[in-house]
Amino acid sequence: MKIFDTMQRRKVEFEPIEAGKVRMYVCGPTVYNLIHIGNARPMIVFDTFRRYLEYKGYEVNYVSNFTDVDDKIIKAANDEGVEPSMISERYIAECKRDMSDLNIKPATVHPQATQEIPGMIAMIEKLIENGHAYVASDGTVYFDVASDPDYGKLSHKNMDEMMSGLRELKVSGEENKKSPSDFVLWKPKKEGEPYWESPWCKGRPGWHIECSEMSQKYLGETIDIHAGGEDLIFPHHENEIAQSEGASGKTFCNYWMHNGFLNINNKKMSKSEGNFFTVRDITSQYDPMVLRLFILSAQYRTPLNFSRELMEQAKASYERILNCTDKLTGLLEHAQGDSLSTEEQEAKKQVEGFIRDFEEAMEDDNNTANASTAVYEIVRVANASTNEHSSKAYVAYLLDVIHKLCDGVLGVRTERKTEALDQEIEALIQERQAARKARDFARADEIRDKLTEMGIILEDTREGVKWKRA
Ligand code: AMP
Ligand code: ZN
Repeated sequence: MKIFDTMQRRKVEFEPIEAGKVRMYVCGPTVYNLIHIGNARPMIVFDTFRRYLEYKGYEVNYVSNFTDVDDKIIKAANDEGVEPSMISERYIAECKRDMSDLNIKPATVHPQATQEIPGMIAMIEKLIENGHAYVASDGTVYFDVASDPDYGKLSHKNMDEMMSGLRELKVSGEENKKSPSDFVLWKPKKEGEPYWESPWCKGRPGWHIECSEMSQKYLGETIDIHAGGEDLIFPHHENEIAQSEGASGKTFCNYWMHNGFLNINNKKMSKSEGNFFTVRDITSQYDPMVLRLFILSAQYRTPLNFSRELMEQAKASYERILNCTDKLTGLLEHAQGDSLSTEEQEAKKQVEGFIRDFEEAMEDDNNTANASTAVYEIVRVANASTNEHSSKAYVAYLLDVIHKLCDGVLGVRTERKTEALDQEIEALIQERQAARKARDFARADEIRDKLTEMGIILEDTREGVKWKRA
């Protein structure tokens, strides 16, 4: 299997440290708001990659953090007049709901920065001991970039480039550092900020040390794969390497994977620019699986421009998949025969060819664009080669293939959700009718509000209550 490694700038053959096992770390979101669909891109593409590794039989130890202490969280907390932990806990819960809607498997561990402070302090102590960090007069601890001859090996930036990009930082409150490229490992608290005791001052960790420590704690000193969006290459991942290797003296990570941006009008979607859609905005209009298919429709390293047109295409593709599995599930109920007809054997060969295409695409640096195309081809053959005379063995084979590749690897559910949902809606409507009969109007209104929240519009007609989706 080939992976494009950002450090080597080419596709290389993947070889895990330990046979049959993969240790993988994916940088997670800073939790101060609902996640946007740009944040969902790394979650979806690396979840799909993980699923493919599992399909190949690897045991994947997958770690993805939540950054739950940060300036933006503190600002959001101050704006609302609540504790920062209220903000981060709320948005971790919301993020987990989005992840579940998008069928993103929970990580093996989702560490949170605020729960890992002692480990970070120990790592910073180690860096000071090894001559890679120094304490400034105000108690700030900096990483000493000049102490690391390898600094820049991931981003391939030279010192001059880095300096020109970083000069401004020196002006903005970090005057005590020896060089503009030095970065913060620990910083003193400011009024009204959360803080922890440390050997240097009451304060909190810098952002980069968080991932170095959590990666080492949960995956060991050397890991197989580290991933995230390409904006993290510099400085975040460059700094993680400097810290982790400075502390352990060992290679931090063997393969670096970075996804391209999700753009709107060819500009990066980002909260600070204000040009974003939250996952919630989109999943209130489309099935979350349509968003998943849209994200997977491009190879993960290429930029992907969000558009309604592409979403509509993904929606149509998803409908085709669902129509196919509906048809096959229906046929399976009455189909008989446990051997394949000659035509079915021929069609099965075609399907096997597309399974190979699927696997080749995934083996070629997680090319989910070509892998999805292979699934659409399988769906096309499945539709064309089945009818009420199909053998049970053939129909069951097709369903199994689609479940393994589409549900299993692409993470795109092929079961229609709406039926269960319809039942749930009907049950609520009946409960509302019963409440009205019992003249419990408060309860009846409560149920109506709940239905409205679910995007259901009720109409009281002479023939009874009718409902439709908004
Ligand atoms: P953040 O919360 O900004 O630290 O981002 C969490 C993850 O989402 C990181 O891996 C970012 O690189 C990634 N990310 C943020 N915006 C985008 C975008 N527009 N397209 C793709 N990935 C993004
Ligand atoms: Zn990180």
